[in-house]
Amino acid sequence: MEPKRGPQDRGVDTSPVTLYGEFTAIGNRKVRYAVSLTGKELIVQRLSSAPVQRNKVVLNLKDCVGSRAHRGEDNSDPAAYFTAYFYLLRKRWMSSGTSRQRVEQGFRLAALQDPRYNLEEAEKWARAVRERSARQQNLRDGLVMSEPSRRRMMILVNPQSGRGQALSLYNSHVQKMLQEAGLPHSLLITERQNHARELVRDMDLTQWDGLVIMSGDGLLFEVINGLMERPDWEEAIRTPLAILPGGSGNALAASVHHYSGSTPVSSEELLISCGFLICKGLVSRMDLVSIHLPSGSRVFSFLSLAWGFVADVDIESEKYRHVGAARFTVGTLVRLASLRVYRGRLSYLPATLDNHKDQNHTQKTSLWPASNLYSFSNDNCGPISEQNSCHSNNSVKVRQRENLQRNANLTPPGPPDSLLPPLDQPVPSNWVVVPQEEFVLMLAIYQSHLAEDLFTAPDSTLDDGFIHLIYVKAGISRAALLKLFLAMEKGTHLTTNCPHLVYTKVHALRLEPQSPKGIITVDGEVVEYGPVQAEVHRGLARLITG
Ligand code: ADP
Ligand code: MG
Repeated sequence: MEPKRGPQDRGVDTSPVTLYGEFTAIGNRKVRYAVSLTGKELIVQRLSSAPVQRNKVVLNLKDCVGSRAHRGEDNSDPAAYFTAYFYLLRKRWMSSGTSRQRVEQGFRLAALQDPRYNLEEAEKWARAVRERSARQQNLRDGLVMSEPSRRRMMILVNPQSGRGQALSLYNSHVQKMLQEAGLPHSLLITERQNHARELVRDMDLTQWDGLVIMSGDGLLFEVINGLMERPDWEEAIRTPLAILPGGSGNALAASVHHYSGSTPVSSEELLISCGFLICKGLVSRMDLVSIHLPSGSRVFSFLSLAWGFVADVDIESEKYRHVGAARFTVGTLVRLASLRVYRGRLSYLPATLDNHKDQNHTQKTSLWPASNLYSFSNDNCGPISEQNSCHSNNSVKVRQRENLQRNANLTPPGPPDSLLPPLDQPVPSNWVVVPQEEFVLMLAIYQSHLAEDLFTAPDSTLDDGFIHLIYVKAGISRAALLKLFLAMEKGTHLTTNCPHLVYTKVHALRLEPQSPKGIITVDGEVVEYGPVQAEVHRGLARLITG
């Protein structure tokens, strides 16, 4: 039957006209449905000769990743089909939270004997579902990538991450979801450590609208540093990045899921949630922290700088990799048994409003890389869009050339660290030097989660411009430390009034360990041991979020 304007939607409404049609179920032609599509919902009502049945399903288009139309396999059958794919937030069994569950709604259209007409109708419905669900996202947020079919994404998978399951998780969950969203992508399987870093350093980024990292946090660390090592880093680091949890340390995935406003999930539910966000393609700014290492080199970090208990657990727990994300719990218990004190000096620049204003400069840069032209679902730059997304090709090229020229004189690449003196010189007088020199741990974190079940900096957001500094002074008992880690699962550890715990927001910090040997980690990866210092660069990178 020909879709027509629905009876209930003739008034003044900013949402698009309601489409209405009556179709049959895909597997059973005797089951008929009345289907309405409003600006916000797909409403499916089963038509039946029996007395009124409660059989109406209302699906929110915000939860829809895509829709497609196709002919049937039987060429003599003139019918066409359209299917819409939803990942609905449903209450989890035996828990108070929700998680996304896949729901497919498919219909058979056979109003006429002309297969072309039926297919056109099916395509019209599929297109309308796609456009309206994209519009839902735009209405809410404004900054969305171009429609999925026009995006070119590269997915980098570390087959060794976590329990070695990243590739099979890609095959079992991700591939299908991206197909449903009509999102073309290329898959790159890393062969060794630093493979991705080298690749990204030399890659032609104009070929890609986004880089998706399917691994733990370690592979994203490689990618970010590869981008920052390029002469055109300023442009390169604005390439939208995304994370799919495939490792054992999936801190950023857990953080992104948390920022999207959803209740905590783990494992495959977390993967589905992050995959869903990628289909939606909302891009946000993400802070990066520049970290100076003892040798004078610099790395860029999106997650954490750790020393003491946390760094030791991170590295020692590598051997429990086979238990997946639980490796940190096991590692924590083992390390608690041999709790020790770490000597060193810690100093920092506290976050004040004045300092914060200075940190705002990176916010002024365009959200988008100039080389990639993004469009909004209405195919022009909408009211909240940024000017750069409307750049003509010429000005793009001029800017790229300018960037390259400017950066050719800069070694190493990356933004200057205006807050940090050289490592061998004293910290400025407006810094705080922590009087204690004995610690159990020092953790600088700039995302909400340190692991899937460690809600370490509940206040942290993706681009707040803060390093959330947490340190625990020596003298804490094993029981008290265990209590802190247990409380961290719910994010209540900062309010337990533990006298040994200090939490403060800073813009820069320096750590000078005094023991001759030890472990320092950046984003969970071991770096050179010795004096290090760090400064946050607000909103330097781009991340696909919710
Ligand atoms: P996990 O959370 O399981 O530790 P990561 O993404 O952190 O997963 O990866 C662990 C380490 O593996 C990182 O140091 C990363 O650089 C490295 N790596 C990336 N690709 C490969 C590969 N193909 N083989 C071995 N190691 C790799
Ligand atoms: Mg890791």
